This record gives sequence, structure tokens and C-alpha cells, in this order.
Amino acid sequence: MSSRDLQGIGMTSLRTRERMVQRLGDLGISNLRVLEALLHVPRHLFVEEAFAHRAYEDAALPIAFNQTISQPWIVARMTEVLVSALPEGTAKVLEIGTGCGYQTAILARLFAHVYSIERIAPLLDRTQTRLRGLGVHNLTLKCADGSFGWSRHAPFDGILITAAAPALPAALGRQLAEGGVLVLPEGGQQQTLKVYRKRGERLEVQELEPVRFVPLLAGVER
Ligand code: SAH
Repeated sequence: MSSRDLQGIGMTSLRTRERMVQRLGDLGISNLRVLEALLHVPRHLFVEEAFAHRAYEDAALPIAFNQTISQPWIVARMTEVLVSALPEGTAKVLEIGTGCGYQTAILARLFAHVYSIERIAPLLDRTQTRLRGLGVHNLTLKCADGSFGWSRHAPFDGILITAAAPALPAALGRQLAEGGVLVLPEGGQQQTLKVYRKRGERLEVQELEPVRFVPLLAGVER
């Protein structure tokens, strides 16, 4: 455990997380398994130290390499879509946009295995160290352009994209298992959270609420 945990913030963070979870419940997140996962993952260890005191506000915060950690509400919302649709414990999930790994850690508590792809190599290195330190082991990470998915491990029961794309990348639709669910912030300046479900050869789409994510970018940064 780092000195940061021992000094104050770690001591009070369970109580602060309880309040965060309470607020998310008030905002309509009702799945108990999702709320339980958010209660246990220490979000303050995923943000820059300068923002640790704000880790349990319902806000997106800056992280390294010009990226952001998503707002707790959107993490809960996207996770809830997957959890409500997929079998408990057994499902295999692909995440695009690992970032600091907060959403990844939440998914790893709820699903059998998480594959996660990030395009910024040094960010992914840090995240890998952080997740190992927290004892999250049922996951596989790689640095790549996530638009192409991860065909070696496909099909996935769930796919969660944490950066906005103007349209569903075709490879991700193909790598979704029959009956599987994909969640995507779709659009450019104006984005809508969309849920795709695979039924036979068809993808059914459902629109949820307006959202705001950093864009899904092409290529990798070393
Ligand atoms: N899941 C994160 C949110 C990360 S923000 C959380 O829990 O807070 C979105 C991330 O997507 C950024 O780290 C960005 O670098 C990454 N990203 C953007 N385009 C990508 C692509 N084509 N492939 C993989 N990752 C991408």
C-alpha cells in the first residue's frame, strides 16, 4: 500500500465512495452489482494526485496524456447496460479506450475476463502497473487502434467503447457474439449513447441519452 493510501484519503475513501454510490442510486442507477463494484474500486487511485480530493465527485477529471477519467455516472450507466444483458460472471468483455483503467477495473469485478485496448502506449504502461498493484488479474491489455477490435479473442459477449466514434466501427460489430451487447457513444460534437444488440445477422440499435466523450482516434502513440 502506498503512503498516499495510509495518509488520510484512503482512510476516508470508503465513506466518500458510499456517498458517491448513494448519489448514483438517486440518479437512477439501480443494479446492485454495479453499485457494489463502484463501492469497491478506489477511484482516487486512478486520478492524478492533484485531483485525488475530487475523485468522488460526479465529474470527469483530467488524467495524463490529455485524456480524461469518465464521470462515475457514465461508467455506472454503461456498465449497467452490459450487466443487465449478459450472464453473471461468465461473460467475456472487450473495452476500447483503457485510459486510466477505472472502467476496466469495474468490468473486471463483474465479468469473467476483460480485454482492453488503448492507443497511447505510455498511458497503458502506467495503467497496467496500477491494475496489477490493485490485484486485478482477469484482464488482458494491448496497445493498438481499438477500431479494429481484437479478432484473436472474438467473439465478445459485451463490447464497451469509451471514446466517441461517428459510426460503429464495422470490425467491432463483427466481433460481437450472437446475443451480445455493444455500447458506444456515437457522434462528433453531438453524441448519443447507443446500444447495439446482435440478433442473428442483424444489429438492433437503441438510443439512450446525450453524452460527451473524447474522440476515438486512429493509429497508436508510442
Ligand atoms: N475508460 C476510461 C476512459 C478513457 S477516455 C475511464 O475509465 O475513465 C478514452 C480513452 O480512449 C483515452 O485514453 C484514449 O487515448 C483512448 N482511445 C481513443 N481512441 C482510441 C482507439 N482508436 N483505440 C484505443 N483507445 C483509444
